[in-house]
Amino acid sequence: MASYMEHRDLANETIETSRARQIADNVRRVLDRVRSAEESAGREPGSVRLLAATKTRDVGEIMAAIDAGVRMIGENRPQEIAAKVEGLRRLCAERGFTLGHDDGVGEVLDAGAKADGAAVKTAPESSSVAANGQSGADCIPVHLIGQLQTNKIGKVLSAVDTIESVNSLALAERIARRAVARGIEVGVLVEVNESGESSKSGCNPKNAIDIATRIGIMGGLRLQGLMTIGAHVDDEYAIRKGFERLRNTRELILESKAPGVEGCTELSMGMTGDMQYAIAEGSTIVRVGTGLFGEREFV
Ligand SMILES: *Cc1c(COP(=O)(O)O)cnc(C)c1O
Repeated sequence: MASYMEHRDLANETIETSRARQIADNVRRVLDRVRSAEESAGREPGSVRLLAATKTRDVGEIMAAIDAGVRMIGENRPQEIAAKVEGLRRLCAERGFTLGHDDGVGEVLDAGAKADGAAVKTAPESSSVAANGQSGADCIPVHLIGQLQTNKIGKVLSAVDTIESVNSLALAERIARRAVARGIEVGVLVEVNESGESSKSGCNPKNAIDIATRIGIMGGLRLQGLMTIGAHVDDEYAIRKGFERLRNTRELILESKAPGVEGCTELSMGMTGDMQYAIAEGSTIVRVGTGLFGEREFV
């Protein structure tokens, strides 16, 4: 367990007015940045969705972001999802939103918490999830954006709509097996290490098309696109090249017309520091943490 989890009560729902206002201002600023980047790239307004990267943030902070207009959240660690999901679901339900997916097994929740959460269940086939796997306007999808260990797959399947960090065929197969056993379908993005930095997760770009094509025909998984973390450098050209390569890979996958790849449309790329480059290169989801919540006290 990450050490900060012992220092912060991530289920805390209370928030100082000044802190909530700060987060709301940040959300507006980031949404403005997204809109102006779309415009300068000549892209359709609304073609890029904002995902709030909520690691280390508590329920109160996340709800402040949702109240200010955030409509998708991304968590890195299964333990954090477990700590926050009950509070988030209940507070979202009070506002008329459903948060994430709940397959009814409720493995993430302990027995006591589950009784309260039961009213806000969303089955994957419910009307709030359209046929293309995109959630409706009243739905706030939860994505897993951090690495997933095999023994945590069951835990996250109960709560997340999409796993963005699928970086190998072996992991995809394990997720597929668990999803099929539960009779659900989980969204998947293939994470590709376009920067080649050894600290980054993600598959070798050489294998991305093969992995995506195989996922396309796996039961229990719905291939939705590709994800990458931008190069950790100051060079705009180098950062954009990585994003461009991810876009080209997506085009090759779509053009292959292989069975099950037609939904491989998302490009999850761009964070606080490089979202404008990612949007210029075709990003459809930007994952922003610091820009919304400020610097993290803990990694
Ligand atoms: C933390 C994180 C982000 C957001 O990073 P910021 O620089 O804080 O915006 C995006 N993607 C992943 C995978 C992350 O872990």
